[in-house]
Amino acid sequence: MSNEKKLGYHGPRGMVRYDIPPAPESDKRFTPGIKTITEAQRETKVLNEADVIVVGGGPGGVAAAITAARSGARTVLIERYGHLGGMATGGLVNIIPNMGDVYGNHLIGGFCHEFIQRLQAQDAAFAPAPAQWGSTEPQVLKYYKDASFHHFFVRRNAEGKECLVYSAILDPEIGKNELNRMAMEAGVKLLLHSWVSDVVMEGDTVKGVIFQSKSGRQAVLGKVIIDCTGDGDLLPFSGAESEDYIDPDFRITHLCFGVWIGGVEFRAFDKFMSAQPDDYTQLMNDLYDNGLYVGFFRGMLKNQENMAWLHPHFKTKCQTDVEEMSRMDVAGREKAVKTWELLRDRAPGFEKSYIMLTGPQLGTTGGRRLVGQYSLRESDLYRTEPFEDTIAIFANNDRAEESLKFNKIYVPYRALLPKDVKGLMVACRAFSSDDVANTYFNLIPHCMCFGQAAGAAAAIAVEKGIDVKDVPYAELKAKLIEGGAILP
Ligand SMILES: Cc1cc2nc3c(=O)[nH]c(=O)nc-3n(C[C@H](O)[C@H](O)[C@H](O)COP(=O)(O)OP(=O)(O)OC[C@H]3O[C@@H](n4cnc5c(N)ncnc54)[C@H](O)[C@@H]3O)c2cc1C
Repeated sequence: MSNEKKLGYHGPRGMVRYDIPPAPESDKRFTPGIKTITEAQRETKVLNEADVIVVGGGPGGVAAAITAARSGARTVLIERYGHLGGMATGGLVNIIPNMGDVYGNHLIGGFCHEFIQRLQAQDAAFAPAPAQWGSTEPQVLKYYKDASFHHFFVRRNAEGKECLVYSAILDPEIGKNELNRMAMEAGVKLLLHSWVSDVVMEGDTVKGVIFQSKSGRQAVLGKVIIDCTGDGDLLPFSGAESEDYIDPDFRITHLCFGVWIGGVEFRAFDKFMSAQPDDYTQLMNDLYDNGLYVGFFRGMLKNQENMAWLHPHFKTKCQTDVEEMSRMDVAGREKAVKTWELLRDRAPGFEKSYIMLTGPQLGTTGGRRLVGQYSLRESDLYRTEPFEDTIAIFANNDRAEESLKFNKIYVPYRALLPKDVKGLMVACRAFSSDDVANTYFNLIPHCMCFGQAAGAAAAIAVEKGIDVKDVPYAELKAKLIEGGAILP
């Protein structure tokens, strides 16, 4: 019998992946669409004329809009849901990893670091103190290793020693409010509950966007448009080149249906795991064999002591296919309830548990990606020198042996710029990259860095009356450093 504490996410047979179920028989009653219709021409009301329009209020979008507005640009942020933060709040994936490297060097400053600090001031973020970053102290490491999120905090360095990395876990509800506050303080105009469904083009230049809301179909015009939809929604509308190939084995092929189970007595569950390891393994195998969710994280925030976080992943063919997304939601919810029922009935500690929340927004990991002026490819992960237009430096903490040899990666400004379309930038996980670079470097802090860079560049372009492609790098770099970014 093993007394070793079993941690979080990995079930007895590793991480479980589910494919999206096929369309139900009843869907076959519907005639497949083979024709198209021609919509009548119409006049569309222009709600506002702005300097900068940011589409999507996720990690990339909030950083872009707030940075542009702080620099004086009249900025409109359009978001389809009623809250900001995207996956970092509404998707229930509020873990901000890899803010620094294994040696305690702080690499992601600027907007993301500021956001974490503002939440820490409200007791709404969990992160190690700066003096602990890079620590190899066994006592310090033990604290994080005992927590089920430990793999976000503890890594090995090139000498094989375990070290503490600067990562954070955020309270998503306080986070949503804090992002509103930051947007309001900066003077961003928010259009929530507004779904952008097209762009306004003049030749090869994007001049605005069209959005649908309860007020009908309206337009906002602007001098710079920043696509922060996560999925590059504006790329097909504007004709900018995009790609969506993902190696089927990569994380970013997955959709996710986040679930929080509250009222869990972890002490009873831990006792069960260590005192009855065979029963525990049987339970996990039963979950697995019934196609249910295996493994969970434990809430580490002060108000989440009794919370289990499930991040089930569903492998999908296309994450922008509305039919697949709909089937995933139906399947995800059914599995969430069945998983909870089985845990409640069989797992000590779960007797009084309840499903507290399912992700207000579907977890998407990879959609369309820009094919831009520079595409960050796998080969760039082996670079040792920054680009001449570097806008972000990331800790390369997650690529095992490769990370030990090449512990930083660099992102050029050109990865946010389309090749042939003017007035447009992409500052979200749809940045120009291949599936390898994207799978490791499209996370929340990375997207906030892209957003901050795009917002700063947009403000410079507006002030100078130039296209974003022509923004002088020296000025952009100075503005980013002024905003707390850490650059070469
Ligand atoms: C299960 C799962 C676990 C993850 N775990 C982590 C983790 O631990 N740490 C981490 O850092 N990252 C994690 N990620 C990845 C991370 O959440 C995303 O890569 C990141 O949020 C991307 O930010 P974004 O701004 O590009 O997009 P999003 O967070 O998706 O934000 C896009 C925003 O745009 C809005 N939007 C989209 N289309 C439109 C439209 N047409 N009109 C108006 N608004 C629109 C959306 O509503 C959303 O608010 C995880 C992702 C998943 C799915």
